[in-house]
Amino acid sequence: PQVYLNGEFTPLSQAKVSVLDRGFIFGDGIYEVVPVYGRKPFRMGHHLARLRRSLEAVRIANPHDQAGWEDLVGKLIATSDAPDQIVYLQVTRGVARRDHAFPADAVPTVFGMATPFAWPGAELREQGVRAVSMPDERWLHCEIKSTSLLGNVLARQFAVDRDAVETVMFRDGFLSEGSSSNVWVVKNGVLVAPERNHLILEGIRYGFIQEMAAARGIPLEMRKIAQAEVEAADELMLSSATKEILPIVSLDGKPVGAGRPGPVYAQLRQSYDEAIAALARR
Ligand code: PLP
Repeated sequence: PQVYLNGEFTPLSQAKVSVLDRGFIFGDGIYEVVPVYGRKPFRMGHHLARLRRSLEAVRIANPHDQAGWEDLVGKLIATSDAPDQIVYLQVTRGVARRDHAFPADAVPTVFGMATPFAWPGAELREQGVRAVSMPDERWLHCEIKSTSLLGNVLARQFAVDRDAVETVMFRDGFLSEGSSSNVWVVKNGVLVAPERNHLILEGIRYGFIQEMAAARGIPLEMRKIAQAEVEAADELMLSSATKEILPIVSLDGKPVGAGRPGPVYAQLRQSYDEAIAALARR
Protein backbone atom coordinates (compact mmCIF):
# COMPACT_ATOMS: atom_id res chain seq x y z
CA PRO A 1 0.00 0.00 0.00
CA GLN A 2 0.97 3.61 -0.59
CA VAL A 3 1.52 5.87 2.40
CA TYR A 4 2.10 9.61 2.69
CA LEU A 5 5.41 10.95 4.00
CA ASN A 6 6.47 14.60 3.80
CA GLY A 7 4.59 15.55 0.66
CA GLU A 8 4.90 12.31 -1.27
CA PHE A 9 3.06 9.04 -1.63
CA THR A 10 5.40 6.04 -1.53
CA PRO A 11 5.03 2.31 -0.91
CA LEU A 12 4.94 1.57 2.83
CA SER A 13 8.12 -0.52 2.54
CA GLN A 14 9.99 2.49 1.15
CA ALA A 15 8.71 5.14 3.56
CA LYS A 16 11.74 5.89 5.75
CA VAL A 17 12.43 8.42 8.48
CA SER A 18 15.80 9.42 9.94
CA VAL A 19 16.81 7.84 13.24
CA LEU A 20 17.26 11.42 14.45
CA ASP A 21 13.57 12.14 13.98
CA ARG A 22 12.33 13.51 17.30
CA GLY A 23 9.34 11.21 17.07
CA PHE A 24 11.77 8.28 17.30
CA ILE A 25 14.19 9.85 19.80
CA PHE A 26 11.76 11.59 22.18
CA GLY A 27 8.22 10.56 21.20
CA ASP A 28 8.00 14.26 20.32
CA GLY A 29 4.91 14.25 18.16
CA ILE A 30 1.15 14.00 17.98
CA TYR A 31 -1.29 11.89 15.98
CA GLU A 32 -4.89 11.34 14.96
CA VAL A 33 -6.96 8.29 14.08
CA VAL A 34 -9.97 8.90 11.82
CA PRO A 35 -12.44 6.10 11.10
CA VAL A 36 -13.78 5.89 7.54
CA TYR A 37 -17.06 4.18 6.64
CA GLY A 38 -18.07 3.58 3.03
CA ARG A 39 -15.03 5.68 2.01
CA LYS A 40 -16.33 8.66 4.01
CA PRO A 41 -14.45 9.97 7.06
CA PHE A 42 -16.62 10.03 10.20
CA ARG A 43 -16.58 13.32 12.13
CA MET A 44 -13.52 14.54 10.26
CA GLY A 45 -14.03 18.15 11.36
CA HIS A 46 -13.84 17.06 14.99
CA HIS A 47 -10.70 15.00 14.36
CA LEU A 48 -8.97 17.86 12.54
CA ALA A 49 -9.91 20.29 15.32
CA ARG A 50 -8.34 17.93 17.88
CA LEU A 51 -5.25 17.58 15.67
CA ARG A 52 -4.96 21.38 15.68
CA ARG A 53 -5.31 21.50 19.47
CA SER A 54 -2.65 18.80 19.92
CA LEU A 55 -0.21 20.66 17.64
CA GLU A 56 -0.81 23.92 19.50
CA ALA A 57 -0.34 22.22 22.87
CA VAL A 58 3.10 20.92 21.91
CA ARG A 59 3.99 24.01 19.84
CA ILE A 60 4.52 22.32 16.48
CA ALA A 61 3.50 24.56 13.58
CA ASN A 62 0.48 23.13 11.77
CA PRO A 63 1.82 21.90 8.42
CA HIS A 64 -1.60 22.11 6.71
CA ASP A 65 -4.74 24.19 6.90
CA GLN A 66 -8.15 22.52 7.19
CA ALA A 67 -8.54 22.15 3.41
CA GLY A 68 -5.02 20.73 3.15
CA TRP A 69 -5.74 18.08 5.78
CA GLU A 70 -9.07 17.22 4.17
CA ASP A 71 -7.35 16.86 0.81
CA LEU A 72 -4.67 14.61 2.33
CA VAL A 73 -7.26 12.40 4.06
CA GLY A 74 -9.14 12.08 0.75
CA LYS A 75 -5.95 11.02 -1.02
CA LEU A 76 -5.13 8.51 1.74
CA ILE A 77 -8.60 6.96 1.42
CA ALA A 78 -7.95 6.62 -2.32
CA THR A 79 -4.82 4.51 -1.65
CA SER A 80 -6.99 1.62 -0.39
CA ASP A 81 -9.84 -0.33 -1.97
CA ALA A 82 -11.41 -1.08 1.41
CA PRO A 83 -14.75 0.70 1.99
CA ASP A 84 -14.07 0.99 5.73
CA GLN A 85 -10.67 2.25 6.80
CA ILE A 86 -8.67 3.73 9.61
CA VAL A 87 -6.73 6.82 8.57
CA TYR A 88 -3.68 7.45 10.74
CA LEU A 89 -2.03 10.89 10.74
CA GLN A 90 1.13 11.79 12.62
CA VAL A 91 3.21 14.96 12.92
CA THR A 92 6.54 15.00 14.75
CA ARG A 93 8.82 17.95 15.46
CA GLY A 94 11.15 16.69 12.73
CA VAL A 95 14.78 15.68 12.38
CA ALA A 96 17.48 17.45 14.40
CA ARG A 97 20.70 16.88 16.35
CA ARG A 98 19.72 15.21 19.63
CA ASP A 99 18.90 17.85 22.22
CA HIS A 100 15.79 17.97 24.40
CA ALA A 101 15.20 21.66 23.60
CA PHE A 102 13.21 22.48 20.48
CA PRO A 103 15.45 22.70 17.40
CA ALA A 104 15.56 26.13 15.78
CA ASP A 105 14.97 25.04 12.23
CA ALA A 106 13.50 21.52 12.10
CA VAL A 107 10.75 20.83 9.58
CA PRO A 108 7.88 18.73 10.99
CA THR A 109 7.69 15.15 9.72
CA VAL A 110 4.21 14.43 8.40
CA PHE A 111 3.08 10.84 7.96
CA GLY A 112 -0.26 9.40 6.91
CA MET A 113 -1.60 5.95 6.09
CA ALA A 114 -4.93 4.28 5.50
CA THR A 115 -5.49 0.69 6.60
CA PRO A 116 -8.59 -1.51 6.22
CA PHE A 117 -10.91 -1.25 9.21
CA ALA A 118 -12.31 -4.47 10.61
CA TRP A 119 -15.26 -3.43 12.77
CA PRO A 120 -15.51 -4.93 16.22
CA GLY A 121 -17.15 -8.28 15.48
CA ALA A 122 -20.63 -9.39 16.49
CA GLU A 123 -19.19 -11.40 19.36
CA LEU A 124 -17.61 -8.35 21.01
CA ARG A 125 -20.69 -6.23 20.37
CA GLU A 126 -23.18 -8.79 21.61
CA GLN A 127 -21.28 -10.61 24.37
CA GLY A 128 -19.21 -7.67 25.58
CA VAL A 129 -15.58 -7.57 26.66
CA ARG A 130 -13.54 -8.23 29.76
CA ALA A 131 -11.57 -5.40 31.35
CA VAL A 132 -9.08 -5.15 34.19
CA SER A 133 -8.06 -2.13 36.25
CA MET A 134 -4.84 -0.49 37.36
CA PRO A 135 -3.68 2.87 38.69
CA ASP A 136 -3.23 5.54 36.02
CA GLU A 137 0.53 6.01 35.90
CA ARG A 138 0.67 8.36 32.93
CA TRP A 139 1.72 12.00 32.85
CA LEU A 140 -0.63 14.93 33.48
CA HIS A 141 -1.33 16.02 29.90
CA CYS A 142 -3.51 13.17 28.73
CA GLU A 143 -5.66 15.66 26.78
CA ILE A 144 -2.88 15.86 24.17
CA LYS A 145 -3.00 13.05 21.60
CA SER A 146 0.75 12.57 21.85
CA THR A 147 2.81 9.78 20.30
CA SER A 148 4.54 9.48 23.71
CA LEU A 149 2.39 6.47 24.57
CA LEU A 150 4.57 4.33 26.85
CA GLY A 151 2.12 4.60 29.75
CA ASN A 152 -0.76 3.62 27.47
CA VAL A 153 1.27 0.79 25.92
CA LEU A 154 2.07 -0.67 29.36
CA ALA A 155 -1.58 -0.34 30.42
CA ARG A 156 -2.79 -2.08 27.27
CA GLN A 157 -0.32 -4.94 27.75
CA PHE A 158 -1.54 -5.27 31.34
CA ALA A 159 -4.92 -6.18 29.83
CA VAL A 160 -3.48 -8.51 27.19
CA ASP A 161 -1.46 -10.37 29.84
CA ARG A 162 -4.71 -10.97 31.75
CA ASP A 163 -6.70 -12.06 28.70
CA ALA A 164 -8.76 -8.85 28.76
CA VAL A 165 -9.52 -6.34 26.02
CA GLU A 166 -8.94 -3.11 27.93
CA THR A 167 -7.43 -1.71 31.13
CA VAL A 168 -9.56 0.82 32.99
CA MET A 169 -7.37 3.31 34.84
CA PHE A 170 -7.92 5.14 38.12
CA ARG A 171 -6.04 8.29 39.15
CA ASP A 172 -6.04 8.81 42.93
CA GLY A 173 -9.08 6.55 43.21
CA PHE A 174 -11.11 8.19 40.44
CA LEU A 175 -11.87 6.86 36.96
CA SER A 176 -9.80 8.40 34.17
CA GLU A 177 -10.05 6.30 31.01
CA GLY A 178 -8.91 3.14 29.24
CA SER A 179 -5.44 2.57 27.77
CA SER A 180 -6.84 3.64 24.38
CA SER A 181 -10.49 4.44 25.01
CA ASN A 182 -12.89 6.54 27.03
CA VAL A 183 -14.91 4.74 29.71
CA TRP A 184 -18.62 5.18 30.55
CA VAL A 185 -20.60 4.18 33.62
CA VAL A 186 -24.36 3.61 33.89
CA LYS A 187 -26.09 3.67 37.27
CA ASN A 188 -29.88 3.72 37.71
CA GLY A 189 -30.38 4.76 34.09
CA VAL A 190 -27.94 7.70 34.27
CA LEU A 191 -24.97 7.73 31.91
CA VAL A 192 -21.89 9.07 33.70
CA ALA A 193 -18.46 9.95 32.32
CA PRO A 194 -15.40 11.61 33.84
CA GLU A 195 -15.38 15.36 33.33
CA ARG A 196 -13.32 16.69 30.43
CA ASN A 197 -9.94 17.85 31.70
CA HIS A 198 -6.20 17.20 31.35
CA LEU A 199 -6.53 13.69 32.85
CA ILE A 200 -8.29 12.18 29.84
CA LEU A 201 -8.17 12.39 26.08
CA GLU A 202 -11.34 13.99 24.79
CA GLY A 203 -12.32 11.21 22.42
CA ILE A 204 -14.28 12.17 19.34
CA ARG A 205 -16.72 9.54 20.59
CA TYR A 206 -16.69 11.22 24.03
CA GLY A 207 -18.54 14.12 22.39
CA PHE A 208 -20.53 11.96 20.00
CA ILE A 209 -21.89 9.69 22.74
CA GLN A 210 -22.99 12.73 24.74
CA GLU A 211 -24.91 13.92 21.66
CA MET A 212 -26.50 10.51 21.13
CA ALA A 213 -27.50 10.27 24.80
CA ALA A 214 -29.08 13.73 24.69
CA ALA A 215 -30.98 12.85 21.50
CA ARG A 216 -32.41 9.76 23.19
CA GLY A 217 -33.22 11.51 26.45
CA ILE A 218 -30.70 9.44 28.43
CA PRO A 219 -29.73 11.47 31.54
CA LEU A 220 -26.03 12.37 31.44
CA GLU A 221 -23.55 13.48 34.09
CA MET A 222 -19.92 14.51 33.63
CA ARG A 223 -18.15 14.36 36.99
CA LYS A 224 -15.53 12.65 39.11
CA ILE A 225 -16.33 8.94 39.45
CA ALA A 226 -14.96 7.03 42.44
CA GLN A 227 -13.60 3.52 41.87
CA ALA A 228 -16.34 2.11 44.13
CA GLU A 229 -18.99 3.56 41.77
CA VAL A 230 -17.36 1.86 38.80
CA GLU A 231 -17.30 -1.42 40.71
CA ALA A 232 -21.02 -1.02 41.54
CA ALA A 233 -22.07 0.08 38.03
CA ASP A 234 -25.12 -1.37 36.28
CA GLU A 235 -23.27 -1.04 32.96
CA LEU A 236 -19.76 -0.12 31.83
CA MET A 237 -18.76 0.77 28.29
CA LEU A 238 -15.69 1.86 26.39
CA SER A 239 -15.46 3.97 23.25
CA SER A 240 -12.81 4.67 20.64
CA ALA A 241 -12.47 5.14 16.89
CA THR A 242 -11.54 1.49 16.32
CA LYS A 243 -13.70 -0.11 19.06
CA GLU A 244 -16.65 2.24 18.42
CA ILE A 245 -18.70 1.54 21.54
CA LEU A 246 -18.41 -1.78 23.38
CA PRO A 247 -19.95 -3.10 26.60
CA ILE A 248 -17.58 -4.12 29.40
CA VAL A 249 -19.21 -7.13 31.06
CA SER A 250 -16.53 -8.02 33.58
CA LEU A 251 -14.03 -5.95 35.52
CA ASP A 252 -11.14 -7.62 37.33
CA GLY A 253 -12.96 -10.93 36.96
CA LYS A 254 -16.21 -9.73 38.57
CA PRO A 255 -19.40 -9.32 36.52
CA VAL A 256 -20.50 -5.77 35.73
CA GLY A 257 -24.19 -5.45 36.67
CA ALA A 258 -25.96 -8.48 35.26
CA GLY A 259 -22.77 -9.56 33.48
CA ARG A 260 -24.15 -8.90 30.01
CA PRO A 261 -24.61 -5.85 27.75
CA GLY A 262 -27.26 -3.55 29.18
CA PRO A 263 -30.12 -1.43 27.86
CA VAL A 264 -28.25 1.90 27.70
CA TYR A 265 -25.51 0.24 25.67
CA ALA A 266 -28.14 -1.21 23.33
CA GLN A 267 -29.63 2.25 22.71
CA LEU A 268 -26.26 3.93 22.10
CA ARG A 269 -25.19 1.04 19.87
CA GLN A 270 -28.29 1.52 17.77
CA SER A 271 -27.68 5.26 17.43
CA TYR A 272 -24.06 4.61 16.47
CA ASP A 273 -25.10 2.16 13.75
CA GLU A 274 -27.68 4.64 12.48
CA ALA A 275 -25.02 7.37 12.26
CA ILE A 276 -22.74 5.06 10.25
CA ALA A 277 -25.61 4.18 7.91
CA ALA A 278 -26.52 7.86 7.50
CA LEU A 279 -22.91 8.70 6.62
CA ALA A 280 -22.96 6.12 3.82
CA ARG A 281 -26.16 7.61 2.38
CA ARG A 282 -24.74 11.15 2.22
N1 PLP B 1 -8.51 7.88 25.34
C1 PLP B 1 -7.34 7.42 24.85
C2 PLP B 1 -6.16 7.33 25.76
C3 PLP B 1 -7.23 7.05 23.49
O1 PLP B 1 -6.07 6.59 23.00
C4 PLP B 1 -8.39 7.15 22.67
C5 PLP B 1 -8.33 6.83 21.24
O2 PLP B 1 -8.22 5.76 20.77
C6 PLP B 1 -9.59 7.59 23.23
C7 PLP B 1 -9.61 7.97 24.56
C8 PLP B 1 -10.86 7.67 22.41
O3 PLP B 1 -10.78 8.70 21.42
P1 PLP B 1 -11.57 8.58 20.05
O4 PLP B 1 -13.01 8.40 20.38
O5 PLP B 1 -11.31 9.87 19.36
O6 PLP B 1 -10.98 7.42 19.31
